[in-house]
Amino acid sequence: MTKFVFVTGGVVSSLGKGIASASLAALLESRGLKVTLIKLDPYLNVDPGTMSPFQHGEVYVTDDGAETDLDLGHYERYIETRMKKANNFTTGQIYKSVLEKERRGDYLGKTVQVIPHVTNEIQDFVKRGAGVGTKDAVDVAIVEIGGTVGDIESLPFLEAVRQLSLRMGPNMAAFVHLTYLPWIPTAGELKTKPTQHTVQKLREIGIQPDALLCRADRTIPEEEREKISLFTNVAQWGVISMPDVDTIYKVPRLLHEQGLDGLICDKLRLNTPPAKLARWDNLVREVANPQGEVNVAMVGKYVDLSDSYKSVNEALRHAGLKNHHKVNISYIDSETISAGNVEQLEAFDAILVPGGFGVRGVEGKISTAQFARENKVPYLGICLGMQVATIEFARHVAGLADANSTEFDPQTTTPVIALIDEWQDADGSIQKRSAKSDLGGTMRLGAQSSDVSKNTVAHSIYGDVVTERHRHRYEANVNYLDTLRSAGLVISALTQREQLTEIVELPTAVHPWYVGVQFHPEFKSTPWDGHPLFNAFIKAAIHHKTAKVPT
Ligand code: GLN
Repeated sequence: MTKFVFVTGGVVSSLGKGIASASLAALLESRGLKVTLIKLDPYLNVDPGTMSPFQHGEVYVTDDGAETDLDLGHYERYIETRMKKANNFTTGQIYKSVLEKERRGDYLGKTVQVIPHVTNEIQDFVKRGAGVGTKDAVDVAIVEIGGTVGDIESLPFLEAVRQLSLRMGPNMAAFVHLTYLPWIPTAGELKTKPTQHTVQKLREIGIQPDALLCRADRTIPEEEREKISLFTNVAQWGVISMPDVDTIYKVPRLLHEQGLDGLICDKLRLNTPPAKLARWDNLVREVANPQGEVNVAMVGKYVDLSDSYKSVNEALRHAGLKNHHKVNISYIDSETISAGNVEQLEAFDAILVPGGFGVRGVEGKISTAQFARENKVPYLGICLGMQVATIEFARHVAGLADANSTEFDPQTTTPVIALIDEWQDADGSIQKRSAKSDLGGTMRLGAQSSDVSKNTVAHSIYGDVVTERHRHRYEANVNYLDTLRSAGLVISALTQREQLTEIVELPTAVHPWYVGVQFHPEFKSTPWDGHPLFNAFIKAAIHHKTAKVPT
């Protein structure tokens, strides 16, 4: 029987509901339970795929090719269960499904309404995410409800999960509410009023939380915990302090020591061995005791919002832990880089160009790739970062001075990067792909496997086969590969199915570490093992730094 924990948020957003949910899931998993996490997003977009990273942060991609909320990245980094399409849905998906059923006549002439049709649909989606009725059914599904209690748009979600817990009967569901206590410096007080109000709001719709996770810049004193308990009807041991911490890896222990996993298992009548936290303690120790530091320049477009590159940031940090080094990341807006000032990158031990879309800032990225190549600075190009490395090499080494991607110049005479149906034109002319208007539907998405050539950097990292996740439209044009190869670019991996370019690199005789990948390795990095490609990149950065500064 699958049981549920519903996690809601109050007062303000950005309190770390995703990390809190993932931490609770990790604690339950360490008690031997089979756990999954599901994220419900209250907006009308069908998925975040078409949303600007400035709006929504990174789009996380699962193995089965779903474009999801970045919280799913936290989930995969914290627990063993892999996320799928069904682990994240939006109001848009719910309405789409309800309206399709309505058009098919599935509602047999009834008036279709938010209650019960939308709320029932939400319950079905939640159960599907938890694998109920299948061999993948979990013991506990933690369901994180996006948005803040009191928002009009998340109401149907709250109503749906209230109904679901009622329908399942006692001890089948628990409610955890994340709230915020502001510190008022002039009064020298932590204020509980917003928490009182947000719980009132929840109780108004019939949800009584079992635990409150109280976010604040400090630990909540005993007296305030007692007060919160009285006003919210939550037992005092359920009023849990969640102060700011210097590393997110401290959160599982923080929650465990205040008994959160015990409380949830109690409520759900789950009899398990105690939680095991050694791996988290080891991580915290590793974070606190680096043997050195390296400085990585991340040259991208969405640099103002660090959430835009969430998984890349995490993967770099994981690789740092693996190499016992702290990784300092400097975000540099590629629009500010030009051939005239690219020298500023000299200060860094390694350079990374992450994924991105659109022409803005792309010449700065090409200059960046050129600088890294010519100055033998370790370079990792991810997706767009591989494409700009290929264009740069074509222009400056392979003699294709006009090389470009049709994404940046649709009229380019030398489309070394282009949509597949553009590079298949027999007469060399470029035709725009007609399906382009459906921006949500033309991507190469999800996990695909490639064969890796022997005696390459890629082979030393991945072995014979690489399976990684994708999210892009453009590809290295097969018609230019021979020219690039004869000029010295190594194409070290091709997809098994369509023979598309997956990895390009420079031979180690020419450059110590220069790799571009068409996929997104960052989505598969974990704090436990890091990711082999990032681990190798940071190792190269450490070598580069040591070679620069004679000891
Ligand atoms: N814009 C490029 C493409 O669509 C790269 C995408 C990416 O970096 N994720 O192919």
